[in-house]
Amino acid sequence: MSETAQPPLLEVDDIHAHYGQAIEAVRGVSLTVPQAGIVALLGANGAGKTTTLKAISNLLGPERGTVGRGRILLRGEPANRLSASDLVKRGVVQVLEGRRCFAQLTVEENLVSGGFLRGPSRQQLKADLDQIYAWFPRLRDKRATRAGLTSGGEQQMIAIGRALMTRPALVLLDEPSMGLAPIIVQEIFEIIDTLRRIQQVSFLIAEQNANLALHYADHGYILENGIVAASGSSAELRLRDDVTDFYLGARRDPHAEPHDALAVSLNASVA
Ligand code: ATP
Repeated sequence: MSETAQPPLLEVDDIHAHYGQAIEAVRGVSLTVPQAGIVALLGANGAGKTTTLKAISNLLGPERGTVGRGRILLRGEPANRLSASDLVKRGVVQVLEGRRCFAQLTVEENLVSGGFLRGPSRQQLKADLDQIYAWFPRLRDKRATRAGLTSGGEQQMIAIGRALMTRPALVLLDEPSMGLAPIIVQEIFEIIDTLRRIQQVSFLIAEQNANLALHYADHGYILENGIVAASGSSAELRLRDDVTDFYLGARRDPHAEPHDALAVSLNASVA
């Protein structure tokens, strides 16, 4: 690194995470997310993707999970001991798996609840809301609808929009495509891509749909039983036979259209 080089936005160095005394879910995971980068964290069910994201955002505690070893650096500074809310203040926010929304609150109330974490003025809040509606026009149309009555895709947009209301530098996104129609998934990933290009927001995205994630990401890490089994640029990973065989479904799914990236999920390919 030259003297003037900035440290990466996020550096995870050899972390080990376990639940209770017995289950070591993540064993020596290292990864890097640069500023304005999209990084994919791939792997099958139980590979350790969610645990890795929660280790970074310090959300393992409620599940009796801990990070036993390793370092998490944010802009070069140790971040292991920062609480989830301190991490949000430093620009790291997680969108949990399962597009969690407050079902009884309106779309707008859900979004505003994300904004309050920063204690903004009314004017700032309004400006941030307008910005979210510009990214997600569907949410503007549904602003007064109860979140529980919106579609799965809209709920995922609400969850991402609420995270964006914290004005993050890094969004940890857990399985954004899960259970959604390909067209909606594509819409969401296009917005992610735009946010990275225009707002310089970085994303670390846990996904089982490896084809989809590598289409948008610059770099990917493949987890297997809690360790990084492969990593590289998205282009490199897509060219590797072992990766395409086991993770991209290219050889396993004879019905997959060559460009139908959204339709081929990791689960289908390893089944
Ligand atoms: P999925 O796509 O199914 O969410 P994942 O790659 O995100 O999978 P994790 O949820 O991180 O994987 O799980 C990694 C391992 O840790 C698995 O063996 C899982 O059973 C275990 N695990 C996850 N959460 C807990 C928990 N709260 N308590 C105990 N073990 C857990």
